[in-house]
Amino acid sequence: MQKKLIFYAFLFTTSIKAGEAMEVIDESSEHVPSISQSNTKLLYLYDTYNGEHSSKIIRKGSDQKKGNFFILDETIFYPQGGGQPSDTGVFVINDKSYNVSFASSVEGVVHHYIEGDISNVEVGQVALLKINMEKRLLHAKIHTGGHLLEGVLEKFAPELVGFKGYHFPEGPSVEFKGKLTSLSNTQLIEQVNLSLKEMILKKHDVIVKEVDLEGLKKLCGNSDVPLNDNTARIVTIDKFKPIPCGGTHIKNLSELKSVSIRKVQNNKGNTKISYIAN
Ligand SMILES: [Zn+2]
Repeated sequence: MQKKLIFYAFLFTTSIKAGEAMEVIDESSEHVPSISQSNTKLLYLYDTYNGEHSSKIIRKGSDQKKGNFFILDETIFYPQGGGQPSDTGVFVINDKSYNVSFASSVEGVVHHYIEGDISNVEVGQVALLKINMEKRLLHAKIHTGGHLLEGVLEKFAPELVGFKGYHFPEGPSVEFKGKLTSLSNTQLIEQVNLSLKEMILKKHDVIVKEVDLEGLKKLCGNSDVPLNDNTARIVTIDKFKPIPCGGTHIKNLSELKSVSIRKVQNNKGNTKISYIAN
């Protein structure tokens, strides 16, 4: 369990260096921007369902790999990381639309990468941000499905300790340290899938809250998670162990049609569980 919590501590932290962030394009990353380490206010942490917001452009620039970008004082765009893909969408500035193809957290601020020319836009102008909500909700469902899967796994295969999540629509998976010994692969799939179905039918809330160091120790039994302003963000489903996390989540499991294991693979002493969530 200790290892698992340390893993999520990595998910929660955002010690991103510029070079690293540029590498993170389409792969699972262990870096997720946390609440107050970002100088861009991260509004998605407070409302998964808000798809529009006006923000001020505080900087613009360009980098070699991803091109032109804007930095805003606050954002609803989720910057790719923690195994979750970036939001995409548009900025509307002076009645002109700019496609946002990718968002990434770089040294505490979110870079919103724009397709095309941004030379006519001035720092200080206000942009209306619109995210692709269909994608946002799918990503939140897949990510929450990963939490749910891990929670259910605690019961059926406690020997497995989660260390990596990949919550992209193309083949999401959770990887665990350790080999499955409690059950056969077939038994695990059968029993866990049944339990996942039951959990969704019970319409459990997905509770996200901020806690201080004492709360973190009490809930997670661990104080290694980096805190900012003595605050950590904790995600809890039913009676599963609360997990520090900076991703986007749905509010209630009833928003999921289904979550089910697709495949269990043993890989060099570790176990990779691929799943479907929608
Ligand atoms: Zn999460």
